[in-house]
Amino acid sequence: MSPRPSPSPNRNPFLAAGLDPSTITATDTALVWLKRDLRLADHAPLSAAQGFSRALAVFIIEPAWLASPECDASHVAFALDCVEDLRQQGLPVLVRFGEAVAVLQALRTEHGVTHLLSHEETGPCWTWERDKAVAAWCRAQGVPWAEFAQTGVVRRLRSRNGWAGRWQARMDAPQHGAVTGLPCPADLAVHALPRLGELGLPPHGKPLQAAGERAGRQTLDSFLRHRGSDYRRSLSSPLTAENGCSRLSPHLAFGTLSMRTVHQATEARIAALSASPQASDRAFAHALRGFAGRLRWHCHFMQKLEDEPAIEWRNFARSADGLRPGDEGVPMVAADEERLAAWREGRTGFPMVDACMRSLRATGWLNFRMRALLVSFAAYHLWLHWRAPGLFLARQFLDFEAGIHWSQMQMQSGTTGINTLRIYSPTKQLQDHDPQRVFVRRWVPEWGTDAYPAPVVDERVAAQAAKERMYGLRKTQDARDSLQRDLFE
Ligand SMILES: Cc1cc2nc3c(=O)[nH]c(=O)nc-3n(C[C@H](O)[C@H](O)[C@H](O)COP(=O)(O)OP(=O)(O)OC[C@H]3O[C@@H](n4cnc5c(N)ncnc54)[C@H](O)[C@@H]3O)c2cc1C
Repeated sequence: MSPRPSPSPNRNPFLAAGLDPSTITATDTALVWLKRDLRLADHAPLSAAQGFSRALAVFIIEPAWLASPECDASHVAFALDCVEDLRQQGLPVLVRFGEAVAVLQALRTEHGVTHLLSHEETGPCWTWERDKAVAAWCRAQGVPWAEFAQTGVVRRLRSRNGWAGRWQARMDAPQHGAVTGLPCPADLAVHALPRLGELGLPPHGKPLQAAGERAGRQTLDSFLRHRGSDYRRSLSSPLTAENGCSRLSPHLAFGTLSMRTVHQATEARIAALSASPQASDRAFAHALRGFAGRLRWHCHFMQKLEDEPAIEWRNFARSADGLRPGDEGVPMVAADEERLAAWREGRTGFPMVDACMRSLRATGWLNFRMRALLVSFAAYHLWLHWRAPGLFLARQFLDFEAGIHWSQMQMQSGTTGINTLRIYSPTKQLQDHDPQRVFVRRWVPEWGTDAYPAPVVDERVAAQAAKERMYGLRKTQDARDSLQRDLFE
């Protein structure tokens, strides 16, 4: 796959995105293409659009998105709720259904659009293909497309050396002020948002986290003010993580808050707590430092997909090719399909695995450790390739973020070639993180009765067999794998 076009590393954010404000004329019209950046604050394209005498904003519901195997109706519902929040805050966002190029062409014809402004996106394969088509359309039309960085991901990165410093500089840079409105054309017709059924989508049936920029702010505030005080200890158990983790992931995935906003608010809170004479405040600051580090991981993992888009479907360590059923060239047989179905439906006979899966399917969220347990169980105990489980999980996670997701799927399945093998025992995880079986009883009420299925595999035998296969593989890993090392270090 050829790389996407890259802006020059100029320090002025507008010039860096290829937009020279001195060249804008009174007859120019800017189109802000909103993607996974559904906010008014710290939004470079919206800020840049204020330099035009006419500007409009559009959110495109792309058929390629709806048809992609990672997409779920809950994602679309959350995005539309975020758009509604922007409208309520005073931004008249157009919503159009269609492939991006066709929609952009229609808006150019209707409104005389001369400039396209958007954030860079590091998403699944279909977004790369669409970006290339849009870039070609812009070239053919003579429409400059200014693309602004919105996370710590660096386009066309030549070397990872110094990446952390660049991340820090971006996160510490001043934020763009919240946009209060756009100089929209007077005849702009903003229609009611489509319902899921009108888009051909089924109801998702989940009580979604509150969407939109204002809900994102409240979530951030409540975490930094009180919920985050015991963050490090709350992380691992699904019982404590529900409230003790930030729950910002869908907001970061749909961009209702910028990473810079979250980073700067966190650092300010850490500084204030650290200066307090009270030991409990300093303990709170320590907890938040653990959280702050994870914000960097977010961009670190997205950078991997930016640099190597093939990690969505190909093993990082090519020596792992063909290792498990479901990988290219290794068809799944009926028994594999049945194990996959049991895992997907939360009926493996391992109560912690089943409770995690059922909880995820009902709510759209699960904490890190339990996501890792689900994947480790599928990869090692059930010996399934990561792609099919990964697509299923992508649809369940409201916060689906391709760069994090596929990196983690491969790391937890042992196909990166360099990370330590972690085979989580479902029995130990149950004992450690739900000793009173509160979580299990909540999600698997039939556990302990005859109605609960017998285990699909023998835990000890399956884990031992997986270990042997994985250590055998490690011994044979070849030089090609080591070329990939820096991507996962
Ligand atoms: C198999 C697997 C798949 C995952 N898929 C996704 C995904 O699609 N989208 C997603 O946002 N996270 C994913 N994660 C990472 C992590 O589980 C979630 O970010 C976290 O549970 C979200 O809840 P939170 O916002 O309350 O997290 P917090 O613990 O409060 O963390 C704050 C933020 O830091 C970032 N973060 C936290 N942990 C990680 C991590 N390990 N790697 C990278 N960034 C991290 C996220 O942006 C998160 O919102 C995945 C983890 C695993 C094991």
